[in-house]
Amino acid sequence: MKAITVEPHKPETARMEGIPEPDLTGGSVLVEAIAVGVCGTDVEIVEGKYGWAPRGKTRLVLGHESLGRVVDPGPSGALQKGDLVVGIVRRPDPVPCPNCAVGEWDMCRNGQYTERGIKEIDGFMSERWRIEPEYAMKIDRSLGLLGVLLEPTTVVTKAWEQVLAVGQRAFWEPQTVLVTGAGPIGLLAALIGKQHGLEVHVLDRAESGPKPGLVRALGATYHTGSVGGVGFEPDVIVECTGVGQVIHDAIRGIGAGGVVCLAGVGTGGSTVGPAVADVAAAAVLKNNVVVGSVNANKRHWYKGGQVLARADRSWLARLVTRREPPEAFMRALQRQPEDIKVVIQFAQA
Ligand SMILES: [Zn+2]
Repeated sequence: MKAITVEPHKPETARMEGIPEPDLTGGSVLVEAIAVGVCGTDVEIVEGKYGWAPRGKTRLVLGHESLGRVVDPGPSGALQKGDLVVGIVRRPDPVPCPNCAVGEWDMCRNGQYTERGIKEIDGFMSERWRIEPEYAMKIDRSLGLLGVLLEPTTVVTKAWEQVLAVGQRAFWEPQTVLVTGAGPIGLLAALIGKQHGLEVHVLDRAESGPKPGLVRALGATYHTGSVGGVGFEPDVIVECTGVGQVIHDAIRGIGAGGVVCLAGVGTGGSTVGPAVADVAAAAVLKNNVVVGSVNANKRHWYKGGQVLARADRSWLARLVTRREPPEAFMRALQRQPEDIKVVIQFAQA
């Protein structure tokens, strides 16, 4: 069968190739791939900057934002032939650490977790894949292809859960949220903000393209420029850019008692703004919390499925701006200006 594979930490090794059918070691559920979303992590792996092959192998099957159709549900009885499923990405570390031991692999302490399509387990960019029934999330069938949005939705579902958990440390009635970055993660964070009944604002550099319209269609307000220029002090900021200046401005611009959730991963950049102690002083004097959030556990996968099931299908459909066939995976990985979420489509939903 066809699969898209890469030799991690070696640039220009990604290719589509024939690999053996998945065997039972991958799990008792056999799934036919429908689509796989691509994101910055896939680009980093293909560029040789990230990723690990399964032990004893040199190549890794790419892809962690899956959607597939059950071909053989196996003996567990949890699934039926034809069900649409998305595969959970992370697996607990084998030690396990205390958090993995209680099913919070998203909070893994020792970094020995594994991840499909990223870290030591083959991903989902193959015509068929297998999965353990407890890691196959069945989705609302009416979502169809839009089920491919579940993995990024789980990431922001966890981020929101962190924000609301932190908020419970004191009396707190948040009314406004600013999301920085209007990529897939930012737009899905804005969607959840609306579902929580908040006044939602989204900030991005783009002055044209699909982003302003997508934000307004949610009933949210679109801003360009800086965090300091939005004209209010948000109760919550969900930071999805990973850009140093934006992070700095978010920590300075959050309202008293507010929560800044860092959900974007960036690197380097120039040193910005005043000394760390000054930023910290502002946080102290306003009782602010800055919380980092990554990945998702099974509870977030379940809740993320509910977020998508409740959402307007036509709005979700506008997030999937490009579909490419498996042969054109390199084109799928090259960002174009109007892209929100690009998917590699293996079969009709
Ligand atoms: Zn762990």
